[in-house]
Amino acid sequence: MPKNRKRILVTGGAGFLGSHLCDRLVGQGHDVLCVDNYFTGRKENILHLMNRPNFEVMRHDITFPLYVEVDEIYNLACPASPVHYQFDPVQTTKVSVLGSINMLGLAKRVGARILQASTSEIYGDPSVHPQTEDYCGNVNPLGPRACYDEGKRCAETLFFDYSRRHNVQIRVIRIFNTYGPRLHDSDGRVVSNFIVQALRGEDITIYGDGSQTRAFCYVDDLIDGMVAMMGADEDVPGPINIGNPHEISVLTLASRIIALTGARSRLVRKPLPQNDPTQRCPDISRARQLLNWEPRVSLDEGLRRTIAYFADRMAQPASAGISDSVG
Ligand code: NAD
Ligand code: UDP
Repeated sequence: MPKNRKRILVTGGAGFLGSHLCDRLVGQGHDVLCVDNYFTGRKENILHLMNRPNFEVMRHDITFPLYVEVDEIYNLACPASPVHYQFDPVQTTKVSVLGSINMLGLAKRVGARILQASTSEIYGDPSVHPQTEDYCGNVNPLGPRACYDEGKRCAETLFFDYSRRHNVQIRVIRIFNTYGPRLHDSDGRVVSNFIVQALRGEDITIYGDGSQTRAFCYVDDLIDGMVAMMGADEDVPGPINIGNPHEISVLTLASRIIALTGARSRLVRKPLPQNDPTQRCPDISRARQLLNWEPRVSLDEGLRRTIAYFADRMAQPASAGISDSVG
């Protein structure tokens, strides 16, 4: 048991990133309360933690108030894939805005430090490249991605206002595209889509001409950065970019996944979704300097681990393996 054992709330703890964060915090001996409404999260992501005495789960929607006693809050609850967050756009804005107000109010009442999982999407389709934290972004407030982008931008505003007005200890990280085991297999994100398509021998769907870029961070690296940020000195509220600055095109990603799976899939073109950013890559100087953090897992290594996860799921009986529905 760690000397500084804390009671930690993880909202969105049954999701992709949240479940890895719960693993880390439970492993460190903290008392972890996972709160999730299972919109995109899955019980199977946290099943292995259920018999741990320092892990507890509560089904709850954070757009409603929550009364618990904790020392730290990681606020991750929010669907992250474009397909999922556009499914119910009003609920997406609500979870970022009302959810943040509720979690900040909780932090204020109990004196907890609170970390917000913000996103590179707050930069929109960026005209500054790579993106530094002082770039204010280029977001279309009317487009189909706005429910997520503007919700997350408003959440950042709320965090800084609660810090200035109510002295709440805040931490804000801007997460860039992250991938790894427990990505939802039907959430439409590019890494899970391509791996599932390759393993099934299906066509790989390239949106647009595939020249748009992203920079992909392996989940273990991301969790290192998130936990380092929560533990950082009081004068580091952020925002801080957490991501892997190794930028590649979507076409290059497809070719790496084909090579690593040995798939014979063909590449097929599909229309580029509206407001799809043309380039995205983090400048992580601030994280390097203030958190002494940088990613360690190479793209090929991270993809190998993720492919192994999906291959294993596909080998399981249908009821336990790949699913096609949300929630
Ligand atoms: P995810 O969809 O796997 O997880 C989100 C979790 O939040 C799910 O378990 C879902 O059921 C839960 N949730 C949604 N609405 C809720 C509500 N109202 N009340 C309680 N729980 C709710 O997504 P993820 O990839 O794990 O993302 C986690 C967080 O990190 C999100 O806030 C996302 O915006 C942020 N983020 C992720 C990435 C990435 O590449 N994965 C990039 C940028 C930001
Ligand atoms: N993408 C693609 N084929 C797919 C899924 C996504 O070409 O089957 C593209 C998508 O248009 C975007 C990039 O991959 O340019 C990353 O998409 P994702 O949804 O993973 O994340 P985001 O757009 O939020 O960065």
